Amino acid sequence: MKLNAEKIRNDFPILSQSVNDEPLIYLDSAATAQKPLAVLDAVQSYYETSNANVHRGVHTLADRATSQYEAVREKTRAFIHAADSAEVLFTRGATTSLNWVAKSWGEANVKAGDEIVITIMEHHANLIPWQQLAKKTGAALNYIHLTADGQLDMEEAARLITNKTKIVAVTHCSNVLGTINPIKELAQLAHQAGAVIVVDGAQAVPHMPIDVQELDADFYAFSGHKMLAPTGTGVLYGKRALLEQMEPVEFGGEMIDFVYEQDSTWTELPWKFETGTPNIAGTIGLGVAIDYLNEQDRTAIHEHGQLLLQRLWPQLQQIEGLTIYGPQDIAQRTGVISFNLDGLHPHDVATALDMEGIAVRAGHHCAQPLMRELDVPATVRASFYLYNTPEEVDRFVASLQAVKEFFA
Ligand code: PLP
Repeated sequence: MKLNAEKIRNDFPILSQSVNDEPLIYLDSAATAQKPLAVLDAVQSYYETSNANVHRGVHTLADRATSQYEAVREKTRAFIHAADSAEVLFTRGATTSLNWVAKSWGEANVKAGDEIVITIMEHHANLIPWQQLAKKTGAALNYIHLTADGQLDMEEAARLITNKTKIVAVTHCSNVLGTINPIKELAQLAHQAGAVIVVDGAQAVPHMPIDVQELDADFYAFSGHKMLAPTGTGVLYGKRALLEQMEPVEFGGEMIDFVYEQDSTWTELPWKFETGTPNIAGTIGLGVAIDYLNEQDRTAIHEHGQLLLQRLWPQLQQIEGLTIYGPQDIAQRTGVISFNLDGLHPHDVATALDMEGIAVRAGHHCAQPLMRELDVPATVRASFYLYNTPEEVDRFVASLQAVKEFFA
């Protein structure tokens, strides 16, 4: 199936506006994706017809809110092909999900002398929690570096993952380079060494079909807002056997069984981790975002990103002094591309593009160690999604040319 981006755009009201007197071209979906009307309507309709707190109430609205909210858990289970909906924990986003694993599983299982293996391309959300865990426990934190082509050095991975390794934490897709990492292979290496693998799926889930069982991921984290859902929603998948052993990270209402003056017991999975009133409306929006992505066909979404890159790539190569970072083989990428123009600061490029109505990101993209590895302070990043069109690619290139000439 081929995506019809022109038709899809009609579902995204925000995209039909002008910015700086030019039609908006939104190329910053890796930061956050735009939301289709169906998601916006679902959030509004929840507040108009069903708003009540979940799980505790006995009245009709509470019951309605609870069933809508819990239906999303089953939908999410199917979306990532988890075995059991109790393995789907709702969080505020990928950052929270990853912190929960580091705090709960990490602090209970990692000790001085152990090793944690991550990669140099991690977003800070999948780096700092492990750095803090290593500092707290006295474990070593080791990094898998990149090949010259911006892919993970799997020989180094095989060397670093040893029987001292307790955790391998890796992003499924780089938010800077677009690189798609071989999660199954890394999971095998981790499991052979007796370690768990934690996957940051924030940039993968929006773009491609995910099967956590096929990947054999022990934990898999992602954010709703990058996959068309409202902000403040996210998921932590964990294998049931691991989640059963883990202690909650936060404490309070919703997650208890009995509370005594000096001690308490926790309710069953998945609720034992979900403290306090959750983001009910946002999660209902997440369910509708899942329906929307399923309707479009997730393989087609990935292929659409690659088609846009195939159109973009040769045109970018025509621009003198432009360096593209990451895999040169488009098949190894999602629709994310980072680049620099010789002699121009990425922020100046992004600001000039904004004057043309084009939204891109410039900066370190929450990946400072990767910037050092690439030996650049920052890059310009354009990220494409299901609503971007070939015509937008062409206008983007033309604007880049104009920016270059303007600063020349
Ligand atoms: N991991 C990756 C690869 C990301 O790109 C991001 C966000 O940009 C995150 C984690 C953090 O996601 P959030 O800010 O939604 O928690």
